[in-house]
Amino acid sequence: MSVQVVSAAAAAKVPEVELKDLSPSEAEPQLGLSTAAVSAMAPPAGGGDPEAPAPAAERPPALGPGSGPAAALSPAAGKVPQASAMKRSDPHHQHQRHRDGGEALVSPDGTVTEAPRTVKKQIQFADQKQEFNKRPTKIGRRSLSRSISQSSTDSYSSAASYTDSSDDETSPRDKQQKNSKGNSDFCVKNIKQAEFGRREIEIAEQEMPALMALRKRAQGEKPLAGAKIVGCTHITAQTAVLMETLGALGAQCRWAACNIYSTLNEVAAALAESGFPVFAWKGESEDDFWWCIDRCVNVEGWQPNMILDDGGDLTHWIYKKYPNMFKKIKGIVEESVTGVHRLYQLSKAGKLCVPAMNVNDSVTKQKFDNLYCCRESILDGLKRTTDMMFGGKQVVVCGYGEVGKGCCAALKAMGSIVYVTEIDPICALQACMDGFRLVKLNEVIRQVDIVITCTGNKNVVTREHLDRMKNSCIVCNMGHSNTEIDVASLRTPELTWERVRSQVDHVIWPDGKRIVLLAEGRLLNLSCSTVPTFVLSITATTQALALIELYNAPEGRYKQDVYLLPKKMDEYVASLHLPTFDAHLTELTDEQAKYLGLNKNGPFKPNYYRY
Ligand code: NAD
Repeated sequence: MSVQVVSAAAAAKVPEVELKDLSPSEAEPQLGLSTAAVSAMAPPAGGGDPEAPAPAAERPPALGPGSGPAAALSPAAGKVPQASAMKRSDPHHQHQRHRDGGEALVSPDGTVTEAPRTVKKQIQFADQKQEFNKRPTKIGRRSLSRSISQSSTDSYSSAASYTDSSDDETSPRDKQQKNSKGNSDFCVKNIKQAEFGRREIEIAEQEMPALMALRKRAQGEKPLAGAKIVGCTHITAQTAVLMETLGALGAQCRWAACNIYSTLNEVAAALAESGFPVFAWKGESEDDFWWCIDRCVNVEGWQPNMILDDGGDLTHWIYKKYPNMFKKIKGIVEESVTGVHRLYQLSKAGKLCVPAMNVNDSVTKQKFDNLYCCRESILDGLKRTTDMMFGGKQVVVCGYGEVGKGCCAALKAMGSIVYVTEIDPICALQACMDGFRLVKLNEVIRQVDIVITCTGNKNVVTREHLDRMKNSCIVCNMGHSNTEIDVASLRTPELTWERVRSQVDHVIWPDGKRIVLLAEGRLLNLSCSTVPTFVLSITATTQALALIELYNAPEGRYKQDVYLLPKKMDEYVASLHLPTFDAHLTELTDEQAKYLGLNKNGPFKPNYYRY
C-alpha cells in the first residue's frame, strides 16, 4: 500500500485571533440537494461533463465484472441528473417533516431540497485567545473541556485502549518522538505502541470490506492524487482504515482528533509510525485539542485542499484563523449533526465559501449508523456496565425514531417488556404496530427497570421522574447530547453519588433508594461499549466517496452550498458492502427498467424515498 505523507517543517505559531460563537440566525437557509452524478470518479470512459447527455453505452455496474480501471472507483454512472435547489416559497413544493426537526421540500418532479434541522446543540468554541504554551494542570484539563463542542467531549471509547500506561503523565507535547524512519511530524502519546495499534487496524480491516475494495480498485488509479486532506475525526482503528485508504487513493493526509477522549493511542501511534502526521492522544486538554488541530493546518509548505470534519471544529478553526486557505480548498465533508448544522448556518449567512457534503443525512449513514448501530450496541453498553439480564425486564424507550427503533428491537428480542414514549403520532403508530405499548413516561416510571432516552431532545427525563423511579432503576441515554436526562438536577446536597465502576454512578436518595446512572447521561454506546466496525465501514466509505466526488467534481458542479451525497453514491456504498453477505442483487430487465422508468444502473429510488 502506498501512503503518501507530508512533512511539516515548522512548529505551529498561531495568530492571536479571538474566536466567537456563531449564533443561529433567524431565516432558514436553503439547501440545494445535489443529485449530480459521480462520473468524475471515472473519467474519461463515458464520464466527462456531468451535465452532458448520458453516454450511449452505460458504464457497467460498479460491482460488475470487467470494470476498467477508470471505472474502478465509480458507481455505475448513468444519465446525470442535475443538481437542483429550490426556494421554500415555491407553492408547488410540499413540505416534509425532516426527522431531525427540519423540513424537506419536495417538488413535483421529485427533487428534494432539505431545510436544516432545528438547533440541537450549538458548537461552542474556546472564546479566549489561545495560549498554547500555557498548559493546564491535569485537573484543569477536564474543566477546560467544557467549552469544546459537544462532539469533542462525548466520550467515545469504541475500543478499549490496550496499551495505555497511566504512569506516563508527560504531555505528548513535551516529548521528542520519532518514528522508525526518523520522522517526527506527529504528536501522539507513545510511538512505541505502534505495533499494538497496527494489530487493531488489521482487525478493523476485516470488517471494512468496502474501503478495502476501494483500495484494490484504485491500484493504478489514484482519484485523490494531489488531494491534501486535513481531517478531524475520532481516531480509532476504523478511522485509521479510512485514512490509509485515502492514502492509497493518492491523498496526503494530516489528522487531529475531534474528541478529547476518543483517541486510541496505539492506533494514533501506528498511523504515525506509517508516516501519517497525526496529532492526537486520549485525554487532551482543550488547549491541546486546538493545538493539535492547528498543527494539522498551520504547516510550512503544505496547504490543505480538502477538509474531512466531524463536529465542525476544524472547519471553524480554519474559518477563524486561516480564512485565506479556503482559496485552495475544494470542499468540506462533514459527518456530524452538529457540524452539518454549522455549515447550514454559514450557508445561510452567505459565508460558506466552498461546497460542502452533508454525510450525516445520507441514507447510508442515517439508516445504518442510527438504526443498526444502536440495535447492536445498546445491549452491549447495558451489559458491560451493569451485567444485567434483559429477559422479563421492563424497559421504557423514549423516542421511536431510528435510534429508538433499534433499541426497542434489540430489547424485545432479548425478552424485555418494552414501552415507548413518543410525541409524533406517526412514530407512535409505528411503535404500536411493531407491538410496543405506547405510554406517557409518568405512567410507567414507577415500575420500569430501565429508562433509555433517544429523542435528541432535552429534559425528557426530569428530576420528578428520577424521584419516582424504583430502587435500582437504570437510566441511560442514546441520544446525541447529554441534555435528555436532567443530570444536573441530581447534583444536590441531599443526594449521594457513588462511582461504582467506570461510567457507572449510583445516585442515592436519603431513604436509601438508588438509581444507576450510566455515562452521566452521555451517549451510552459510544461511552461504554464498542460500536460495530461494519457500520462504521459504511459511514467511512460514504466519507471517502464524498471526498472523491468533491475533489474531482468539475468546476461549477457544486456551488458554495451544502449538498447531500448523490443517491447513486449512497447506492454504491451499499453495493460495496453486499459481498460480505454473499448477497445476490437482482438486476432489472430492460423491460422492467422501462416499465419503472429507471436506469438499470440506478439510482433506484427518488430522493424523497424514505426506505
Ligand atoms: P429521530 O429524529 O429519528 O428520532 C427521535 C424521536 O424522538 C422522534 O421520533 C421524535 O418525535 C421523538 N421525540 C422527540 N422529543 C420527544 C419526547 N420529549 N418524548 C418522546 N419522544 C420524543 O432521531 P434518531 O435518528 O433516532 O436519533 C435520535 C438521537 O440519537 C439524536 O440525538 C441522534 O444524534 C442520536 N444518535 C445516536 C447514535 C448512537 O450511536 N447512540 C447514532 C445516531 C444518532
